[in-house]
Amino acid sequence: MANIFLSSAHNSYGQDKPYTSLNAPELKDIISHINEEHIDELLGFLQTFTPISTAELDNIEVQLTTVYAEGLELQVQPKNVESQSVNAQNHTVQNQTFFIAFPAAITHPDELQIQYIALKQRADKKLGKKTIKLIKQTFTVENRYKVSENMLRLELRMPELSNNDPLNKQPSSVPINDAGYAYLFDLTHNSAANNSVTTGIEDNARSARAHRYYTLRKAWQTPTGIQAWVDVFLHGDTLGGSWAQSLQVGETIVTKREFPEKVDHLRDGQALLIADETSMPTVARLLELWENPTPPLVVCVTHNAADQRYFDNVKIRSGIGIGINSSINNSTDGNNERTTKNGVKDNFTVLPIVIDQQCSGQHLASLIDSTVGNYLTDQPIKIDKVWGALEASTVKALRPMLRERLDLSRAEVVIKVYWRQD
Ligand SMILES: Cc1cc2nc3c(=O)[nH]c(=O)nc-3n(C[C@H](O)[C@H](O)[C@H](O)COP(=O)(O)OP(=O)(O)OC[C@H]3O[C@@H](n4cnc5c(N)ncnc54)[C@H](O)[C@@H]3O)c2cc1C
Repeated sequence: MANIFLSSAHNSYGQDKPYTSLNAPELKDIISHINEEHIDELLGFLQTFTPISTAELDNIEVQLTTVYAEGLELQVQPKNVESQSVNAQNHTVQNQTFFIAFPAAITHPDELQIQYIALKQRADKKLGKKTIKLIKQTFTVENRYKVSENMLRLELRMPELSNNDPLNKQPSSVPINDAGYAYLFDLTHNSAANNSVTTGIEDNARSARAHRYYTLRKAWQTPTGIQAWVDVFLHGDTLGGSWAQSLQVGETIVTKREFPEKVDHLRDGQALLIADETSMPTVARLLELWENPTPPLVVCVTHNAADQRYFDNVKIRSGIGIGINSSINNSTDGNNERTTKNGVKDNFTVLPIVIDQQCSGQHLASLIDSTVGNYLTDQPIKIDKVWGALEASTVKALRPMLRERLDLSRAEVVIKVYWRQD
């Protein structure tokens, strides 16, 4: 069981708790990554495996401090002086160290991911949340074509209960109503199966990063199985793009892992969605499945103005919705809003941002922040929630800017890392 915990201000490891240190320099980067990108999961571990209450979670900061062979050490601190105060039972939240045990001990950092995922699956299950799955799925390529200048659509089919793989005990299933549901595609499957793919893919695909996440742009049931779209953005001669372009109709593709996106906070309030070329498919599906009565504001960042047209055929779910704007020639009034009789806008606004190759990180974050700021100067709206997905250094710079500008909490601003600049 994973509910071993220590709650002590004094760390006595090595004496009465002989946890085994892992002598692996790469753990430093892994720990920083988890602390930057996976705080929600650490909070979920605390909520599930320790006596910390849900009320207390709002008032604490958590950090992963050490990865031992047997589990994770989490350091918990009060968020700030005021919140040191109290929870409902008048308990003071103090500095504490917790140990979250892995289901099975590890000997090398390579094994950490499996144990971390196992903890996440247990925590999500206990919290009633959808979770990551480590299962193999096979799709067949039915067609592929461009839907904007550089966005390649793969039309895929998954025949129902067709999975003959004896290792895969679970019946095939594809979520039809989950925006942002992502699959980890195994690019080596195709390089091994198809020796004629362009030079480089095969060698590269055998290298460590021979996988790419792509989002389920849309999926629907047909009489013969499930049909799905996956949209792959072509960033020049890159591994994922070359793989997608080399796929032939009739070929199979294989995924190894899948997980739901964190979008539950968008159910109400005025939302701001921020997409770049890799997250346009998630935003498009969010719009199609939109249930929040208030339509969102969308920021869309592309390198080529022509790719802004990706949203031209996307319709927000509203019953009365028409297509959108995304006129690429005007930056702030590129919208095509209508106001219905009851005064509710039935459409969404896209603020297009077209950048050059040099614009990334802090620079791009400032551009997004100021674009939103300028829009809000003219519009009488208050943003309550944010979802976005961008490159790692832009995400790092943008999160604090938007939280400050919009005066929002960590839980209200979800900006994910979808890719990394080399
Ligand atoms: C949960 C999740 C869902 C995702 N969904 C999608 C999706 O639906 N469609 C999709 O296309 N991608 C999606 N991505 C991103 C995808 O997994 C790749 O990381 C991304 O497309 C880059 O892979 P690549 O092989 O093309 O380039 P890489 O080999 O990773 O990158 C090589 C170089 O290409 C350039 N480059 C790569 N990406 C970009 C970019 N966006 N803008 C500018 N330059 C770039 C950079 O110079 C980079 O250093 C998703 C990622 C995650 C985590």
